[in-house]
Amino acid sequence: MSRDYVDDLRWGWRCPRCDADATVTKDPRTETFLWECPEESCSAIGFGFSSRRKARIALREYRERYNEIYR
Ligand SMILES: [Zn+2]
Repeated sequence: MSRDYVDDLRWGWRCPRCDADATVTKDPRTETFLWECPEESCSAIGFGFSSRRKARIALREYRERYNEIYR
């Protein structure tokens, strides 16, 4: 693979816990990005990222950690 996975737009924003489409927004108060699961029963969230790219990396790492623990 020659491409950095982070720059591959086909890699989606999926909640690590329930696979719902996570939403990514910028918090205007702190000027940071956050991702959030839309499912009320799940409510996974990550915040404080300086860029969408960083939020995306964190989302991926969250998924990897989650899979390691619960697989
Ligand atoms: Zn979720």
